[in-house]
Amino acid sequence: MAGQEDRTTPPERYGARLAACREAVAERGLAGLMIGVGPDLRYLTGFAGEPMERLTLLIVPREGPVSFLVPRLEAQKASETPPVAGGQATVAPFEETENAGSRAAELLGRSIKGSVGLSDRLWAMHVLALQEALPGCRFERASTVMRELRQVKDEDEKRLLGLAAAAADRALDAIAAGPLVGRTEADVSREIRGRLLDEGHDTAEFAIVGSGPNGASPHHDAGERVIAAGEPVVFDIGGTLAGYASDITRTVWVAGDKDAAPEPEFTRVYELVREAQARATAAVRPGVTAEAVDAEARGTIAAAGYGDFFTHRLGHGIGLEVHEDPYMVAGNATPLRPGMAFSVEPGVYLPGRWGVRLENIVMCAAEPEGRTILNHSPLDLRRVRG
Ligand code: ZN
Ligand code: ZN
Ligand code: ZN
Repeated sequence: MAGQEDRTTPPERYGARLAACREAVAERGLAGLMIGVGPDLRYLTGFAGEPMERLTLLIVPREGPVSFLVPRLEAQKASETPPVAGGQATVAPFEETENAGSRAAELLGRSIKGSVGLSDRLWAMHVLALQEALPGCRFERASTVMRELRQVKDEDEKRLLGLAAAAADRALDAIAAGPLVGRTEADVSREIRGRLLDEGHDTAEFAIVGSGPNGASPHHDAGERVIAAGEPVVFDIGGTLAGYASDITRTVWVAGDKDAAPEPEFTRVYELVREAQARATAAVRPGVTAEAVDAEARGTIAAAGYGDFFTHRLGHGIGLEVHEDPYMVAGNATPLRPGMAFSVEPGVYLPGRWGVRLENIVMCAAEPEGRTILNHSPLDLRRVRG
């Protein structure tokens, strides 16, 4: 099934993103942008790669040609990226003996004054070299421009986020079917990573397995604790598919072969978290603020007396990064727009006992729908028999 999915991004799409980026640079009155290896570069060019000591920089001046500064050994790869192949950018290779910072300054324009946006993930060694090479410029975070572009997903991004979510759903459902009893968290976590890859992810980034009291620590990883019947387990798993992140959380009840029943408070809290998750999801529509969606879940949980045990924000944006704008948190008055994708993941954590968290990726959509839910794994409490 995974083989028939369209995981590509058409070259024209990168052209449209780069054009929108140039427009945003002009609107903000920046002298230009300098984008190093990372999600912003991948968004604009499709070029992935790892950050390293050799500088790789997409240079987007307010006016004039866009340059893709790369070490000579990356020149071939850079020339195959859609913006270069499509004539919107030119590759500028530098030699090992050259000062890449001063080449970057030349490409932007030596005499340029004003503010230059640097991608947030650029290493300090490169930032310092650029500052030295461009003494007339002020530097700011490129996210002032890139955030606006990246937080509203285009049609290709929506499709890829949907594929990533569906693959994570399948991995989660397979794990939730058991067996779990008698296995260590680490063992189950390894199986999850394998399943994420089998279901079509390129990378398995995280596979949290929090059994019993470990579920009360939201970012508990997975350890040597052996899962037993008569306790819940929190799974929070995700990876990337064609660069786009998945992220899903489900909490299951391990009933075992004697069908151990959960204590009443667990069932109550599970239903409460489920209600908070549903209410927050239903609140998503264009124009509603990110913080209002958080408040919806938080109010539900607080009204039941568990407010002190919901210890984190409701969610985070998702795309080329698993955590990106918009953050669903008090203080973020960003109005939601169709195409914004983010997690809705309320939780209640009772220290020393257990935790419950349920997480879906939700995308704001035009009215009358208002939202699309990307995950389809069931939210009913599952009782795992083995
Ligand atoms: Zn998290
Ligand atoms: Zn998660
Ligand atoms: Zn998340």
